[in-house]
Amino acid sequence: MSKKFEKEDIIIGISACLIGEKVRFDASNKPSNFCIKELGQHVTYKAYCPEVAVGLPIPRPTIRLIKDQDMIKVSRPDGSGDVTSAIKAYGKKVASLSANLSGYVFCAKSPTCGMERVKVYSPTGDPLQAKGIGVFSREIMKANPLLPCEENGRLNDPILRENFVARVYAYRHWQAVVESGISKHKLTSFHAQYKYTVMSHDLVAYKELGRLLARADMAVEEMAEQYIAGLMAALTKTASRKNHSNTLSHIQGYFSKFLNKEQRKELSAQVDAYRTGLVPLMVPLTLINHYLLAHPNDYLAQQAYLNPYPESLKLRYGY
Ligand code: SF4
Repeated sequence: MSKKFEKEDIIIGISACLIGEKVRFDASNKPSNFCIKELGQHVTYKAYCPEVAVGLPIPRPTIRLIKDQDMIKVSRPDGSGDVTSAIKAYGKKVASLSANLSGYVFCAKSPTCGMERVKVYSPTGDPLQAKGIGVFSREIMKANPLLPCEENGRLNDPILRENFVARVYAYRHWQAVVESGISKHKLTSFHAQYKYTVMSHDLVAYKELGRLLARADMAVEEMAEQYIAGLMAALTKTASRKNHSNTLSHIQGYFSKFLNKEQRKELSAQVDAYRTGLVPLMVPLTLINHYLLAHPNDYLAQQAYLNPYPESLKLRYGY
């Protein structure tokens, strides 16, 4: 089971318009129901509107990303009102004060906050490829490459939503381990808790992380740095149905000697039903957690995979 955190223990950065602040160019907001009504029950938001923070008024003329030779700037469509430097500097300042953040939700498509695929224009106003990154979000992600980041639109996808929340909780858990002082024992114990989580995301990374922790020629600080970089990269890959099914089969193996024939058959049937897409992941997991209560097993009970975040988020019901 993953470590439990109170709402005030998990701080998530967020574009202010997504939690209802009327700070957009037209004095509107862009509330994210999931962020406000669901995730907001479990985390504390720290909201930023970089455009307002650098002195732009509400309402204000629209700004966009403009590519001029190798330079990307953010300004009004006619090139006036260039706020690139001010927003960059504000991004660096927020990034330097953000070591306590465990995630960030950015507003999609914004030339300031967009995480990817933001529209870029030529100086004459022609649309170029939509491959831009917001000037503010770029600074946050550059300074905190491990920070779980996502956009509001992508959070409507149940798989990406689950992936983001799982990364936030794993990262927060890691931050707590580091806060308490890292040691080889703590590193090994953390990895043991994430064994099935990593397995469900990336089998290759699962083996590589195990090999990394077996090395005797590395200082624990360096090992920890490489470990968390590898873990967060693995968790960023979405867990496929095939990998989940494989992970469930491994967990199933633990129970074989405790369950009677009927129970083993029932568990196999549920894992198969998930594998073929007939039931969501929550169905075999509920049965596994039920059997785990009846047949306690310390190793399984500590697995973040079985309870990665508050169940009331219902993130594993939809796929
Ligand atoms: S997208 Fe960013 S800059 Fe634009 S209104 Fe929202 S918080 Fe402010």
